[in-house]
Formats: sequence, C-alpha cells, structure tokens
Amino acid sequence: MYVLKFGGTSVANAQNISLVIDIITKASQNEKIAVVVSAFGNTTNMLLKTAELAAIKDEYFRELLQEIENRHIQVIKDLIPVTEQSSIISHTKRLLNYLETLFEGCFLLRELTPKTLATIASFGELLSSYIISEVMLVRKLDSTYKDSRELIIASESYENAQVDMKLTHKNCQSYFENNQKQIVILPGFIAATENGETTTLGRGGSDYTAALIAAAVNAKELQIWTDVSGMYTANPRIVKQATPIPQISYQEAMELSHFGAKVIYPPTIQPVLHKEIPILIKNTFDPEQEGTRITKNPNGKQQAVKGISYIENISLLTLEGSGMIGIPGFSKRLFETLLAQKINIVLITQASSEHSICIGINDKEASSAKIALDETFAYEIISKKVDPILVEQQLSIIALVGENMKNHQGLSGKMFSMLGKNNVNIRAIAQGASEKNISAVINSEDAKKALNALHEEFFEEKRKQLNLFVTGVGNVGERFLAQIKQQHEYLIKQLKLNIRVIGISNSRTMYFEEEGIDLGKWKDNLAKGSKASLEEFHETIKSLNLRNSIFIDITADHNVSKVYEHYLRNNIAVVTCNKIACASEYDNYQTLKRVSQKYNAPFLFETNVGAGLPIIDTLKNLIASGDRVHKIQAVLSGSLNFVFNNFSNENTFHDVVAQAQKEGYTEPDPKIDLSGIDVARKILILARESGYVMELEEIENDSFLPEKTLATDNNEDFYASLTEYEAHFQEIYKKANDKNCRLKYVATFEDGKAKVGLQHIPADHPFYNLEGSDNIVLFFTDRYVMQPLQIKGAGAGTEVTASGIFADVIRVGKF
Ligand code: ADP
Ligand code: ASP
Ligand code: MG
Repeated sequence: MYVLKFGGTSVANAQNISLVIDIITKASQNEKIAVVVSAFGNTTNMLLKTAELAAIKDEYFRELLQEIENRHIQVIKDLIPVTEQSSIISHTKRLLNYLETLFEGCFLLRELTPKTLATIASFGELLSSYIISEVMLVRKLDSTYKDSRELIIASESYENAQVDMKLTHKNCQSYFENNQKQIVILPGFIAATENGETTTLGRGGSDYTAALIAAAVNAKELQIWTDVSGMYTANPRIVKQATPIPQISYQEAMELSHFGAKVIYPPTIQPVLHKEIPILIKNTFDPEQEGTRITKNPNGKQQAVKGISYIENISLLTLEGSGMIGIPGFSKRLFETLLAQKINIVLITQASSEHSICIGINDKEASSAKIALDETFAYEIISKKVDPILVEQQLSIIALVGENMKNHQGLSGKMFSMLGKNNVNIRAIAQGASEKNISAVINSEDAKKALNALHEEFFEEKRKQLNLFVTGVGNVGERFLAQIKQQHEYLIKQLKLNIRVIGISNSRTMYFEEEGIDLGKWKDNLAKGSKASLEEFHETIKSLNLRNSIFIDITADHNVSKVYEHYLRNNIAVVTCNKIACASEYDNYQTLKRVSQKYNAPFLFETNVGAGLPIIDTLKNLIASGDRVHKIQAVLSGSLNFVFNNFSNENTFHDVVAQAQKEGYTEPDPKIDLSGIDVARKILILARESGYVMELEEIENDSFLPEKTLATDNNEDFYASLTEYEAHFQEIYKKANDKNCRLKYVATFEDGKAKVGLQHIPADHPFYNLEGSDNIVLFFTDRYVMQPLQIKGAGAGTEVTASGIFADVIRVGKF
C-alpha cells in the first residue's frame, strides 16, 4: 500500500483537483492507496479568521463565511455533472450550516474556546475530503471515504494534540486490513479524543496524518504531493536559486523542517522513520520531476551542507550576571520555569564562563517568559547577582543542516565570514555536538540577504550575484546598461558573476524590479516608473536589503554625491563617475574612505580620472605594494585635448567647443572643463590617492579663459562669450604655433603641490602626439625614477566611461 497526501495548493480549485485525480488514478492502478487531503488552499486560515471575528462580534465574519461557502460550492459545480450535483450540494450545505451555527455561537457568547476552534478548523478538511471523494465516485474510481477521526486518537489540544500511537495503530491496521476498495480517501489534520471530540494535529498537520497511517499499515512509501518539486536547498520562495535535494536522510529532513522548511511538517518524519518507510516529496503541478526522497541512508555522494533554513519571530532571552559563575542550578531553574509555562525552547547557548545563558523562543511567548523568569530569579536580581532578563525581539534563526558536516572542517568559518562580509550582525550561535546543524541568530530584516548569501556560498558553484542600482541613465548610463546586457552570459560563464540591475533612475522617474529589470525594456519601464526621489531610491534599496548591492552614480549631480555615505554605512557599495565627492573637502573624502572600510562596502571611482583608463587602480596597486609617488604629470582632460587638437586658425573656438560637447567629450556644463576645474579635481584626486592631504583651493589654476567668460553662469552666455573673445583664443593658438608647439592643458603634482594650466608642448615631449581626446599620466615614483610609469589612451567618451564603470562593478564582484 502507498499513502499519498495532497496539500492545500494541490486541491485549491477544480483545475488542481483534476490534476490530483489523475495522479491518484495512476498510483492506484497496481497498488492500494490511502489518500489524505488538506483543506482547499487557505481555507484553514479563513476559518480561523472568521472565528476570531465572530468572537469579537464583528459582523464581517458572515461575509468571510459566505466566501468559504462559495468556494466549495463552485468546486462541486465545476467537477460534478449537473444531474448529480443536488445531493452533494445539499450535504455540503448541511456541513456549512453546522459551521455557521458554531460561528453564531461564538458571536453570541463572544467566546472562542480551544475546543470550538478545533471543531471549526476541522471543517476545512471535512469539506475538501468529502467533495473530492464524491468527484472520485463520479469518475468511477474504486474508492471509499473514511473519517480520520475514527482512526486517529489524540489528546484534547487544539494547537497540536498528542497522538495515542497504540490506539491509532490498532484502529488503522484493523480498518485497512478489512478494506476492499482500491482507494481510501481521508481528511488530513483532524483527529478525535477518546471521548469522540474533534481535535487537530497542528498547522500543517495533514502531513502527519498521512505519516501516522503509513506507519500503522507499513506502507511501501509515503508520498507528500505539494506545490514545489521536493525539499529544496532553501525555501524556493526566498532563494530563487535553490534547487530540489534529490536524496536526504530522515535526520536531515527533520532538522531542516524543524528550522522552518515548511514543505514537511516536523512531526511527520518520526512515525515513518522507525519503520524505515521512504518519504517522497513530489510536485502536483510537475509530476515528472524527480522530487526528494527521504530515507535512512541516502544513496550517492552526499554534500556536507544539505540545506539552509530559517525560522522567523524569534526572541532571545539572556540571563546574565557575575553571581552565576560556578554556582550550579541556574540553568535548571531557568528550564523548569519555561517548562511550567509550556514555552518551547528553540535554541540554547551558554558561554563556557557560565556567566550567561541565552535561549531562543517564539516572539509570542517572550513577555510571559520574561515575567516568569524575573520572578524565579527575583532574589538574585534584587541582590544584584544577576541582571533582569534581557529580551531582544524580531530575530530569526538561520541554520545550515547536513549530517556530513561533522566530517568537514571550516564550514562554520565559511558561514560566519560570509555573514560578516554581508554586514549581517550575529546575535548568538549554536552548534550541536552532533554537528548536524549550525545555527545563528540574526536580525529578521537581514534574513533574506543572509539566506541568499549563504546559499550562494554553499550551493551555487561560487556564482556571485551583484545587484545594481543605477542613477543617471543618460548617454553614459545607457551605454553602461547596454554593455551589461551584452556581457551578461559571458560574466556568468567566465567570472561566475551574475549581474542584475534592480533599480534605475533619472531626474524624473525611477523604477525597480526585485528579480532584475529586463535590459531590453528598461526605457519603457522607467518612463512608467514612479516619481524620482533620492531619498526613496535609497530607502527602497535599503529595504530590499539584497546582498552585494551596488549604488552607481552616473550623474554629475552634487546632491547625489551627498548620499554616498548613507549607502556605504548600509554595506552598499558605491561606484561613481561623479567627481564631486572625491574632490570635495578632504574630510569628506576621508570619511567616505573610512566608512567604506568599516562597513565592508567598496567605494570605487576609477572613471573620475581618465574615464576607462586604469589610472586609479594602478596607483592603488603601487601604493599597496609599498611604492611612493613623487611626481605626477598628466594631460587629464579628454575635452580640452579634443578642443586644442582641433582648434586652429581655420575654425573658431566656439565651434570646436560646441562639437566637443555634442560628441560627449565635455561635462554637461562645458565651463567646468574649459575653466580647468575639472582637471584640477582630477589631479587633486590623484594626489589624495597617492596619500597626500590636499584641498582644491590649494591647486594653482592658471585659466586661459577671459574673466568675463569665467563669470558666465549658463551655457548660452558661456558660448556667446566664446564668440566674443574669438580673437583672444586665436592669439593663444598663434603664440604656440609660432614656436612649433602644441597646446596641452597639463596637470602637475610635485613636492606636495599641484597646478593646472595651458602649456606649449614641443615636438620631443611625450605629450606632443596625444591624439583626439586621449589622456596621458606619468607617475614618477621610488620604483619608476628615470622612466615614469605611463598610462595613455582614450580619456573621455561615452563608451569608454561606461566600460570604466563596468570595470569598477567587476572589481566589487571580486571583492
Ligand atoms: P502544502 O499545502 O502542500 O502542505 P506547504 O505550503 O505546507 O504546502 O509547504 C510547501 C511550501 O514550503 C513551499 O511552497 C515553500 O514555499 C515552503 N518551503 C519552505 N522551505 C522549503 C524548502 N526548503 N523546500 C521546499 N519548500 C519549502
Ligand atoms: N489545513 C491545515 C493547515 O492549513 C493542515 C494542512 O494543510 O496540512 O494548517
Ligand atoms: Mg504543509
């Protein structure tokens, strides 16, 4: 015989029930089967809610009841031919009328006892099993109905009744021995007391019903049919990359389910474990999938870590005090107090100094536990031997599970370093001596991030997911997104980096998609997005709390640069081509660097100098390896280079600048380039990265622009002024040309001082042949004395700037 259990989603509506009937038909061809069904999806929740409302005299309960009724009648209408509906509908209505009487009773008495609640909750399974049984009869299956309350006997407790194993076994055995039908259908979850009162086996208890029957009749297999393809390496709703575990031991499955893997109700395993009956978890909606097989000794190579699960709503209670050291009995009194309150302990840790004991319990029980414990230790608290019980709420336990973990070193090291890297604060740790489980207590808001980070570490072939939030999607931003789209597969294959863009924003709108924005459609989606706000952008990123989050600034906006620190403090990396932050007051630059280190959040700005050229990265490597920079000489403005390479007596300065702007070589405000400020900021950043303390005002800036041009405050006036002073610019050109020199805007740093300005460069100088918008940097260091280290190449332009930002993102990925 086989026992098959179908969960709530599997029987949620007529369509799903038809799939279930197909599975039953197939399974019953060569073997007798018992079929245990749950209530139609979410019915139990609705029943409990309705009861709660009735008991507080909220008339809305009637509407909910009507909804429950409609659902069930609809399934009958969908699955039973009209000619046969009437008797089934009238029996169903009888059940529903009885249910209504119970609710009215609660309403009138304003009362809801555990016993009534159990009776009310039982109607979900009573209705579903009756209706499905009738459908099977209509479909001419050789089936019969059996009320589980006649077989499963348990104590009177609504929450989770204790089963009388002996009696239950006896009842099941004698019933199934005498049963002639190929299929027996039974309601899950419900049982009866010895006096025949209805009781229930706890939320999710239908699994347990099936296991009790399987154990009693020595079934060949217990099949749990649900809405996922087995027991996964982590909850698939939270960890998208989770995969089904093909084989797992009873112990491991029990451990995972105890720590929150809801796919199987924890007590389910116990009854079948002793008889070594295999449990198979299968997907009703994808029956061809292999599913998970739970046995005593799983076959094949077994991974050390089998799965990761977590429990929410945990409180940590700490009993602490110097008066505890060396004095026996504190833990005994603590546990006895909790036992008397019937409070379940999920986790215990005690430091070897015996100075404190820490226990994890359900949030709901925290306040009653504190009251009871403070009372137990009242004397010690008054005499200051221990502190009042400390309660911390809203925590979660995250657990690695695997029987084989004991044979592997370094797993907990890996676990905790991964959590540390992701800035997940660990509040308590527990590891059983059997090493089947390593648990950590963390803040609930970090649980999703922690689960995903650990899953990545232990199961995902070292593939790392980077979650990008991009602000500024103009020219450079657009190219950047295009490059990511194009390289996506390559990065996954070659670098094991899965780059996803989760949020984008321009100055008007912003748009988020937690599963990653389709980079083929981002423009349409952004246009439909919500109103842009720097604050909300930041808040959304924070609340999504995804691991490896990177904020990318592709604007030249002062306000955007002000929020970097918030990001870094929340362990969100910052990649920026915006120079404002790094060129602001030294204190601010220094703070960002410090915060970045403290919170493990990279702060990268390679494109601040020389667009995509690896200038800052090279400099960092020199410094890190112990070199010292003495002098830097550089042409750092792609825009000024473009302008002076193209300007001659055959065109006008105005037209050349306009062309530079059109081709994307200048800042949105071209005066920032032409005035030399942009170059000054760059040499300032290089000096600071070389280890020198310097402010922008200390840089000597010998501008070639007339005073009046410098004084303009908008692009229109600026361009008009260029035309007005054309003769001045022609004069500058002529002077250089007469000496056979070229004009280059040069930045120099030497002896702790920096300056920027236009210079006449003779033909034998390395800067002379600098083409187009190219940049060049010469580093004179301890190691590069006579011949400087040179970096040269395109130093401006959308494509190279985008690729420079991309390179920084990859650097974060390798961090
Ligand atoms: P049923 O109604 O069929 O009993 P449940 O909702 O009780 O189904 O259990 C299935 C759900 O368990 C899945 O949809 C999934 O969200 C959740 N779950 C949690 N952890 C795991 C895990 N490790 N593997 C599979 N499912 C899990
Ligand atoms: N219907 C019950 C519940 O929702 C039992 C079950 O589905 O296993 O908890
Ligand atoms: Mg379940």
